[in-house]
Amino acid sequence: MKTYRIATIPGDGIGKEVVPAGRQVLEALARSTQNFAFDFENFDWGADYYRQHGVMMPDDGLDAIRDKDAILFGSAGDPDVPDHITLWGLRLKICQGLDQYANVRPTRILPGIDGPLKRCEREDLNWVIVRENSEGEYSGVGGRVHQGHPIEAATDVSILTRAGVERIMRFAFKLAQSRPRKLLTVITKSNAQRHAMVMWDEVALEISKEFPDVKWDKELVDAATARMVNRPATLDTIVATNLHADILSDLAAALAGSLGIAPTGNIDPERRYPSMFEPIHGSAFDIMGKGLANPIGTFWSVAMLLEHLGEFEAAKRVMAAVEAVTADPSLHTGDLGGKATTAQVTAAVCAFVERVEAAAA
Ligand code: ATP
Repeated sequence: MKTYRIATIPGDGIGKEVVPAGRQVLEALARSTQNFAFDFENFDWGADYYRQHGVMMPDDGLDAIRDKDAILFGSAGDPDVPDHITLWGLRLKICQGLDQYANVRPTRILPGIDGPLKRCEREDLNWVIVRENSEGEYSGVGGRVHQGHPIEAATDVSILTRAGVERIMRFAFKLAQSRPRKLLTVITKSNAQRHAMVMWDEVALEISKEFPDVKWDKELVDAATARMVNRPATLDTIVATNLHADILSDLAAALAGSLGIAPTGNIDPERRYPSMFEPIHGSAFDIMGKGLANPIGTFWSVAMLLEHLGEFEAAKRVMAAVEAVTADPSLHTGDLGGKATTAQVTAAVCAFVERVEAAAA
C-alpha cells in the first residue's frame, strides 16, 4: 500500500479551520480504502510564528517540505502584519523556492450554487485559469530610493523570461488539449506594454505550433473581464501572467458563486518538488474562530491534490461529495446564504466519501 507524505500548513485566520477539515477528508478516504494511506506532518508557520520568531517560516523550512509528496496550505494574512511580509515570507517563498511555476485554478458553478450572472447557465461557466506563478509582475525586482523625502521614487519591475513564458505556455496548451473543447485563450496587454507582453504573444504563437489540435485566441486583459461576464461560454482554458491571472481568477471565483468554494494548485509540472494546493480565499479574520468558514474550497483543493498524486478515483469521490453537499442548501455556510458550520459540512463530506467506498466494496 502506498503511503503519501503530506505537509499541512494551515497558516493564518480561517486557514487554521479549513486545513484540519481537509485533512479529515483525506483521513476519511484513507480509512475507507485499502489502496493508500497518508503520513501527515503539520507546520505552524504564519503570522503567529512571525510574532514569535520574526519570520513567517524558518530559513531552512523549505528543506523540511521538499521531500513531501504534496502540500495542503490554508492562507497567509494577518491584520497586524503587513501583507507583503505575510505573502512573501510564506506562500511566495514556498511557490518560488519549489519552482511551482504553474498556478492552476478551475472554476465551475457547482450544483446548488446561485451565481450572480443572470443569463449564465451552469454549464456555460467551466474554466481553468493558468497563472504564471514564478515571475512577471511578482518577480520582486525593484526598489525605493529617497524614502520619506519628496523626491522618493519606487519601482516594481515585471520580468518575463523566454524560458519562463515557454514553459507556462506549453503547460497551458497541454492542459487545453486534455480538456474536451481544446480551447485556449491567451490573455495579454501587448497594446500598452510594448516589450515583455509582445514577447509573451510571440512565444504563444510559437508554442501553438506544437499543438495544432488546440484552438486558441488572444484577448486583452481588460476586454477579458467583460467577456467573462458577457460571454462566459466562449472561454475554456485561460493563460495569463501572474498579476493578470490573480485578478481574473478572483473575478472567476465571484462569478462562480463564492470565494469560499474556489481551489487552486501551485504545480511543479516537472515533479522535481512537491506541489501545493490551497483554497483561493484569504485568512478572513472577520469570521475566524467561529466555525463558520466554508471548507469547500479546501475540499476541492484536496481533490486536485489527489489528482496530482494520480489517485483519480479518490479525487472523483471527493468531488462527488462536494457536489452532493453544495446541492443541499441545508449544508450551505454563511457565505452562500446558509447557516451550516464548517464542522457540519466536513462531517457530511466525510460521510459521503466513506459511504461511496462502502457501497463500491
Ligand atoms: P487576506 O488578507 O488574507 O487575503 P481577506 O480577509 O482580506 O484575507 P478573503 O479571506 O479572501 O480576504 O475574503 C474576503 C471575505 O470573504 C472574508 O472577509 C469573508 O467574509 C469571506 N470569505 C472568504 N473566504 C471564506 C470562506 N471560506 N468561508 C466563508 N466566508 C469567506
